[in-house]
Amino acid sequence: MPNRKLFLKRHEDCIDSEIRDCHALVLLIDINNLKKINDTLGHSAGDQALQIIAKRLDSFFETVTNTARWGGDEFIVVVKDYGTTERAYSIARHLLDIVGAPLQLDTQEVFLSASIGIATYPDDATSASELIRHAGLALHLAKDTGRNEFLFYKESMSEKLDEDLRIETALHSALEQNELRLAYQPIVRSEDRIPVGVEALLRWHSPSFGEVPPSRFIPLLERSGQIVPIGRWVLQTACSDIRRIQHRNATPLRLAVNISARQLLHPSFVGDVKTILNASGFAAELLELEITESVLIENAPVAAQVLGELRAIGVHISADDFGTGYSSLNYLWKFPFNTLKIDKSFVSAMHGEPQARMIVGSILTLAKQFGLNVVAEGIETEAQYAALKDLNCPLIQGYLTGRPEPISALEIRWAAPCSFQTIGQL
Ligand code: C2E
Ligand code: MG
Ligand code: MG
Repeated sequence: MPNRKLFLKRHEDCIDSEIRDCHALVLLIDINNLKKINDTLGHSAGDQALQIIAKRLDSFFETVTNTARWGGDEFIVVVKDYGTTERAYSIARHLLDIVGAPLQLDTQEVFLSASIGIATYPDDATSASELIRHAGLALHLAKDTGRNEFLFYKESMSEKLDEDLRIETALHSALEQNELRLAYQPIVRSEDRIPVGVEALLRWHSPSFGEVPPSRFIPLLERSGQIVPIGRWVLQTACSDIRRIQHRNATPLRLAVNISARQLLHPSFVGDVKTILNASGFAAELLELEITESVLIENAPVAAQVLGELRAIGVHISADDFGTGYSSLNYLWKFPFNTLKIDKSFVSAMHGEPQARMIVGSILTLAKQFGLNVVAEGIETEAQYAALKDLNCPLIQGYLTGRPEPISALEIRWAAPCSFQTIGQL
């Protein structure tokens, strides 16, 4: 299979003339998780996996295309006269299947997946270099969207990536410039709506972009690695804020903090948590770290070990947004969870759709059997509250029982010691 240099040499001059009179697709294929194979089974296993995939691509595209190895774990494919849009989709899906089929290496069988970015000629660009650049942009976003995805290039993608870059640059100084704050949302006991804990939620007010939602800036922090120092700041600030309230109210208020994949897998994470607990005097047993399932998929063995070390010092672990994503039930016994947080999408759907209610009910039964606690997220109406109470959901969190608020508001609202209950059972 040609490499990038040969591919460009062959095509840079003639690709334009070759495809001028036809419709063509340029597909950039990135193999996910190849690094994991290199790291765990050695580079020769990684090479072997690439060879098998290259052979499969070659035999699939024998007649109509040009295929090349584009870089470390990337391939490029040009398909001429691909026909209809449906056919383009079916080619992309087929490529995902080609990479996703089991790979028999010398030592063992492995599984990989791919992300694919696609540009079409002549709609997206008319020169080879532009087509490849656009396929690259689509690939970049396909990787962000999740694994095993393909995306066709759209003009708006360039704008989004442009904005990403500007936001990422602005984020660099956000911590130093005091633009970050924390908001705290109460987690209440459904029996009597008494707050037993709070979840810390990061807020960013940027002078140039205004209030930016976490769903927009947290993925960018993760990508740039800034989530590590910023996550440390979140944990530090939240522990010292809530420690103050605990102290003043003489109450064991719990604190939940969201932890991203990059943070959890960082070698200094457990050490950082210990240092912060020591420095703030916050009781480990009252800290709950919220992890989403995608974190666990990225690197399950390391994640399980880190979570085990945290449990050993008394920290609790929650499965955030439970029921969405990959939702492997394996996780319930592979990872040392204390709490499941039922995603708000189920809570919102409970009213109109009996199935959503059944899912919530089943999660509650499952949790009970596993001896896990449950928090239902995103409760907005009295009807949702009543339904959850009916199902004996022990804890709830949502706009109905309290919006995320700055610490100052929390301090005023919860000034009286009687606002809290002892929460030994939480
Ligand atoms: P999450 O951890 O699942 O947090 C709950 C989200 O639901 C919060 O959104 C909260 O404001 C929102 N919410 C709570 N009650 C309701 C409700 O009744 N209705 C509706 N529609 N929404 C409700 P927010 O603050 O925008 O945060 C979004 C996500 O960003 C969080 O989801 C979490 O995954 C992430 N995040 C927030 N802060 C941090 C942080 O400090 N570190 C990390 N790694 N991630 C964070
Ligand atoms: Mg959370
Ligand atoms: Mg959640």
